[in-house]
Amino acid sequence: MGESYLDEQVINLKGIGEKTSKLFEKCGVKTIGDLLTYYPRCYDGYDAPRKAAEVISGQINSVKLTIVGKVVIRHVRNLSIIAFEAADETGKIKMTYFNAPYLINSLKSGTTHIFRGMVQKKGSFFTMDQPKMYTIEEYATLIGKLMPRYPLVKGLSNNTVVKAVEQAFINVSKLEEYIPQTILDRLSLCGYAEAVRNIHFPSNGDYLEEARRRLAYNEFLLFVLKLRLLKNMQEEVSNSFPMVEVSETKRLLERLPYKLTNAQLGAWEDIINDLSGPNVMNRLIQGDVGSGKTIIAFMALLTAAANGYQGAMMAPTEVLAAQHFESIKELIDKYDIKTLKPVLLTGALSAKDKKEAQRQISEGEVNCIIGTNALIQSKVNYKNLALVVTDEQHRFGVRQREALAGKGLNAHVLAMSATPIPRTLAIILYGDLHISVINELPGGRLPIKNCVVGTEYRPTAYKFIKDQVEAGRQAYVICPMIEEGEQDGVTNVMDYTEILRENLPSSIRVEMLHGKMKPSQKDEIMEAFGRKDIDVLVSTTVIEVGINVPNATVMMIENAERFGLSQLHQLRGRVGRGQHQSYCIFLNTSEGEEAKQRLDIMNKSNDGFKIAEEDLRQRGPGDLFGVRQSGELGFRIGDIYRDSDLVKESAMDADRILAEDPELMLPQYSVLKNQLATKSANLVDFATL
Ligand code: ADP
Ligand code: MG
Repeated sequence: MGESYLDEQVINLKGIGEKTSKLFEKCGVKTIGDLLTYYPRCYDGYDAPRKAAEVISGQINSVKLTIVGKVVIRHVRNLSIIAFEAADETGKIKMTYFNAPYLINSLKSGTTHIFRGMVQKKGSFFTMDQPKMYTIEEYATLIGKLMPRYPLVKGLSNNTVVKAVEQAFINVSKLEEYIPQTILDRLSLCGYAEAVRNIHFPSNGDYLEEARRRLAYNEFLLFVLKLRLLKNMQEEVSNSFPMVEVSETKRLLERLPYKLTNAQLGAWEDIINDLSGPNVMNRLIQGDVGSGKTIIAFMALLTAAANGYQGAMMAPTEVLAAQHFESIKELIDKYDIKTLKPVLLTGALSAKDKKEAQRQISEGEVNCIIGTNALIQSKVNYKNLALVVTDEQHRFGVRQREALAGKGLNAHVLAMSATPIPRTLAIILYGDLHISVINELPGGRLPIKNCVVGTEYRPTAYKFIKDQVEAGRQAYVICPMIEEGEQDGVTNVMDYTEILRENLPSSIRVEMLHGKMKPSQKDEIMEAFGRKDIDVLVSTTVIEVGINVPNATVMMIENAERFGLSQLHQLRGRVGRGQHQSYCIFLNTSEGEEAKQRLDIMNKSNDGFKIAEEDLRQRGPGDLFGVRQSGELGFRIGDIYRDSDLVKESAMDADRILAEDPELMLPQYSVLKNQLATKSANLVDFATL
């Protein structure tokens, strides 16, 4: 069975009806092929059961315990609650089950079970809510296995996905290999079909790592091939939109309240040279969070406009696009810049507003278009697009880069990224771009003060936030999207907002922000925070990229151990953007040693480059997924730091393949060529949060 089976709709699988298929669609899974590449986000390992004294709070534990004392069942309104204690010779844990009255028969005092679930420390007690219960024999068969945990949406359970993937595999006789055997042999990579099966259902950690590396290599090879094909198209393309440096940018520079740093000036000079030079610009500005990339982008947009062209700037989130739009309008008002006519275009606009924006763009009434991936949709026709800027470039795959660049025939490309990538990798991954590095932060900034603390520190943190707010500053509190499906991330932000309101004086205005809010609501909250009408913003990671509110000086990150280090670095980058001393509080809710060590890296360094290196060193090659760097460059499995050897190998292989067969016409590359053309060229779509 080949392609046709993979193209079948998931609804054709046994056990999947209309409702479930709709839920899958929300996850981007329409066909069986999509389902097979819907990879788990992590795995549950079934360790040998622990003793009560060895449990680690904040983590999933399996414990072998005997029920002691009475098992009580209470009814509160329409809720039934079973509570009891279970113990071994080393200690005792309090257990609670909600709405599971049928369990009462198996929960007899004196019986022994394996309980598996999240352990929390409450006061001097350990507790487990809703633990899974196994007989000793049942559990023995699970030890050593890795169970996949998939990304979920509300209503879709992990079990449903597992069942569906199992069903899909029953009928897939083979998945076509598309990488030449010689390459697989040289790099000791396993076959594609085997890798896909093992990424879902690995029988142990070694198989999982094998699968992961193979699929990572796939991603890298396809990425580099795409890039090479793109570069071939662009090489030595002459400059169709020659520009001159304009008086408007000089005037702006004179009037800004600060002087550009030397590094910013260097980047700006590179850009002006490109725009006025013989060839089209393809440039990446790499600079750590807070290094001041936005103003450089604005000056480039202003240059395009003053030269009579349109420029567009694409951001990965609606919140960030809206903020850029507001800042541009502010600059225009403040410095009386008549040349720039900006418009905002995001998916969040009403149909009517979108249409109007599209009209203004196609008729050339506006010359500075700010937006999200809505900018690259087919309905948008630009009058004379000469410059495309992508902010937070590392959030995009090659496909979006390509699509936006394609909107203006041979438009200049300016990409911006804070991701620290070692030079050897940058040359490969941004092979089509020249690189300017902003390696200096604006002067007068005080280094952020960090602390890694446990949950007992919360009251102190709240008091600290209160003091900062009373001194005129603002604060962010980040809550992670906790276990989709098990606990609702949104409610979590909501609950936390309530807790903060209770713990802070009523004069302090606490509001929340999360990805499930209406776009207009999100904008309102962000603007109010920018205007200082909100003091404390409780948020999910929607604010992770790009957000700039220089008056905010406290970043408190709850469950910090759940985030990747580069993500933590980005989040921390939301403070320390003005002249005030800023603080970052990493709240570690796990008692594990590993989490502590990882967070310690954040504690010791504010340098994105060092953090990435240190993270890699600590993780070591044998680790399972761990906490991944989140979606660098659109890779779903490949981790450019950890798999840097494969990045390099894939680049050499891509060059060899293209040297032999520049158009991929040979039969041995036909499957590879198909893969390049499909969506599953695994360049994920936008994380439009
Ligand atoms: P990022 O590089 O992370 O995108 P931004 O461009 O958002 O950083 O800049 C962060 C803050 O620094 C903004 O408030 C911006 O106005 C300010 N800024 C930019 N350049 C300078 C400079 N040379 N001196 C002082 N402040 C600056
Ligand atoms: Mg930025």
